[in-house]
Amino acid sequence: MTTLGERPVGTGTHGTPGDGDPTRVFNLFAPLNPAAAVTARSVRDVRDAIARARAEGLGVRVHATGHASATARPMEDSLLIRTALEGGVGIDARRRVARVPAGTRWGEVVDAAAPYGLAAAHGSSPTVGAVGYLLNGGLSMYARYTGLAANSVLAVELVTADGELRRVDAEHDPDLFWAVRGGGGGFGVVTAVEIALFPVAGVITGAAFWPAEHAARLLARWQRWTLDAPSEATTSVRVMNLPKLPELPAALTAGTVVCLDGVVVAPHGDDLAAARRMCEELLTPLREVADPLVDTWHEAGPAAVPDTHMDPPEPVPVLGDHLLLEELGEEGVAEFLRVTAGRADQALTVAELRQLGGALSRGTPASGALGRIDARYAYSGAGVPWDAAGEKRIRDHCALVRRALSPWDTGRTAPTFVATPEQPQGHLGADDVRAVDRVRSRVDPSGLFRGDVAPGCSAP
Ligand SMILES: Cc1cc2nc3c(=O)[nH]c(=O)nc-3n(C[C@H](O)[C@H](O)[C@H](O)COP(=O)(O)OP(=O)(O)OC[C@H]3O[C@@H](n4cnc5c(N)ncnc54)[C@H](O)[C@@H]3O)c2cc1C
Repeated sequence: MTTLGERPVGTGTHGTPGDGDPTRVFNLFAPLNPAAAVTARSVRDVRDAIARARAEGLGVRVHATGHASATARPMEDSLLIRTALEGGVGIDARRRVARVPAGTRWGEVVDAAAPYGLAAAHGSSPTVGAVGYLLNGGLSMYARYTGLAANSVLAVELVTADGELRRVDAEHDPDLFWAVRGGGGGFGVVTAVEIALFPVAGVITGAAFWPAEHAARLLARWQRWTLDAPSEATTSVRVMNLPKLPELPAALTAGTVVCLDGVVVAPHGDDLAAARRMCEELLTPLREVADPLVDTWHEAGPAAVPDTHMDPPEPVPVLGDHLLLEELGEEGVAEFLRVTAGRADQALTVAELRQLGGALSRGTPASGALGRIDARYAYSGAGVPWDAAGEKRIRDHCALVRRALSPWDTGRTAPTFVATPEQPQGHLGADDVRAVDRVRSRVDPSGLFRGDVAPGCSAP
């Protein structure tokens, strides 16, 4: 058995980028302009930063990687704390628990857990910060098997507005523990989380790409498969207009392509045969439509999963939109394709339908403020705005897709997928909003962190 804290950061294949500027963000389209910014490497640094903000009459904002900088409210009157806490990921293999310091990226957690045959409910990108993702729900690559990633959080350590370091869990301040998991932020600076890991004997993971001319038949077959798909499988389909980059195969950049990627998980050794069968049931009908241009589906260990979705590792400008959708049926899928594939006015680099359902639709009695996602698909569309004309084309295209999909729009959101500060989160009911507000006013009576509260997660 290893004990928490034994494994150092960055021992695997997904390392941590260098430190640099504390205002550095992943989304170059959404720079942050705080009054001041610091990088906190210890609890003491966090406390000092909070004391400084108070002394200078500033609010406090928190981030790690800036993957969500496009959703940040203005922060000219705030001190921004970039969390990069030291100590590294600790794995307790016997209890199947990871201790994750704030600022750690998912790739490091995956690399630390994989040698023990354990996996975490991480998302599609190894460079997303674990804490920001978990506090906002987290739609995992294994989402239909694990449920919402926030449900895997066992304990949260945070420094609140009074400078106190609190460790909250199901027994210690359960109200704050409930609110901090999906309540919309504004409770303090999280310095570490403990999360439950799950055993993985193997996965079948990968991405297959076809020319867009096959999109209608492919998506029709995929949509039918989703209706009663096993919860061990979590997939997404994307209509992609990829840039001509040297690292991408020419076949994928010659025109619009459709991609099916995901994971089928085998939790135990004797589940591998079942996972293979599930994968065949998914992929064979799609491969029969046409030979894929590229097909990387293969058997692997959990360390391979963060690379499956091929999210960009380096900062890029991104502008997009998000909806949670009801069952689309044939009509909805056709409408999605009408506005995303084969258009002359194409402005979106990616238009994605992520498959929901399975364990995602079930919370647990121990869930936080957000414990389940009640929808069939998460739509997200995004483009790369290099100039003002490009920005307008992307905004217009996002609006077109939003109008077209409005009959299936649930009006709710997956908070991690929300793309602008204007979009209300829509995932908390009125009672939950009041309950998280009560917790906030207890732990932050002066509203030091109020700028960090997501729209829709506090009473107006
Ligand atoms: C390429 C890409 C791929 C993605 N893939 C997925 C995916 O598969 N599934 C999914 O659910 N989401 C995904 N996301 C969205 C991502 O999970 C969210 O943007 C998430 O909020 C990022 O967390 P972060 O800490 O990296 O970002 P940051 O922008 O640094 O932080 C986001 C917010 O989290 C809060 N926060 C962060 N750290 C702390 C802290 N220490 N204390 C208190 N609050 C804190 C703050 O409110 C902050 O504004 C993806 C985003 C991108 C750009």
